[in-house]
Amino acid sequence: MDKISIIVPCFNEEDVVSMFYQETTKQLHRIPDIDYELLFINDGSKDHTASVLKELAEKDSHCFYFTFSRNFGKEAAMFAGLEKATGDYVVIMDADLQHPPRLLPDMYHACKYEGYDCAAGKRVDRTGEGRLRNFLSHSFYKVIQKLTKMDMDDGAGDFRMMSRQMVDAILELKEYNRYMKGLFSFVGFDTKWIEFHNVQRAAGNSKWNFSKLFAYAMEGMFSFSTAPIVWIGNIGTAIMFLSILMTLFGLLVHVTSMFHLVCLILFLSGLQMLFVAILGQYTTKDYMESKQRPIYIVKETSKNLS
Ligand code: UDP
Ligand code: MG
Repeated sequence: MDKISIIVPCFNEEDVVSMFYQETTKQLHRIPDIDYELLFINDGSKDHTASVLKELAEKDSHCFYFTFSRNFGKEAAMFAGLEKATGDYVVIMDADLQHPPRLLPDMYHACKYEGYDCAAGKRVDRTGEGRLRNFLSHSFYKVIQKLTKMDMDDGAGDFRMMSRQMVDAILELKEYNRYMKGLFSFVGFDTKWIEFHNVQRAAGNSKWNFSKLFAYAMEGMFSFSTAPIVWIGNIGTAIMFLSILMTLFGLLVHVTSMFHLVCLILFLSGLQMLFVAILGQYTTKDYMESKQRPIYIVKETSKNLS
């Protein structure tokens, strides 16, 4: 009998966790001949998520929780879930019911009987989201697709069922700076896309704000692409050629202007600062990796720590 593990990162989700549990359990019961486990990763919630999860774990032997010692972020929570999952198929789902549990039977069918390693939900619209966020997200994915040459589609989130083989491949990637959408794409495997319409969060608030989203976008960019470094080289070379041409021009025509010189110096130093900042992105990533810090720390769990 196959076992399905459902990983649920939770950060201040007291309003919605019980609803999630009920709906997901209902959908799992539609799949014949399976066992399942629900692994709630409590990512340092400050509300009563921990006590709600404790109650669920006491009531239902399919439910387990892992409470982090602080908020480590959704990426860390997903990684913890993948490490703790014991199922033959593993699903990652948001707690707020924005990832419709009704897709679970179709996902299982795709993985089990249609020969796919992964069945992933793909959101076909972004109704209900702010226009600006919509536009920025869309542009970000366009840029990142071009830069990284990897398949990271707008609308393709973390909601997916994966085979044990694919999960093990992702667990091999132990980098500290994690960007799961990139990692899914990096490990490859055959993915079936199952489309769904955007749904509003069932309760509670989104944990993302613009600065968090911007940081996340940068993570994706710098973790998966070295293209900016190539740009630096190209622009630097172009500037060098330009300065040589200008010197030659200066030899032919008499030009003296202090103002122009100051402008040039300012322009070049500004450019250099920008380049140093880009380079800095890569060195800080390397710095964090070299520390080999744990990706998360579990403070309390309903399962024996392995
Ligand atoms: N989440 C988390 N840690 C965080 C932020 C979010 O575990 O630091 C979880 C959150 O509880 C939810 C999922 O990640 O289950 C998606 O978060 P949210 O719904 O706030 O994001 P959005 O749907 O607005 O992109
Ligand atoms: Mg959400």
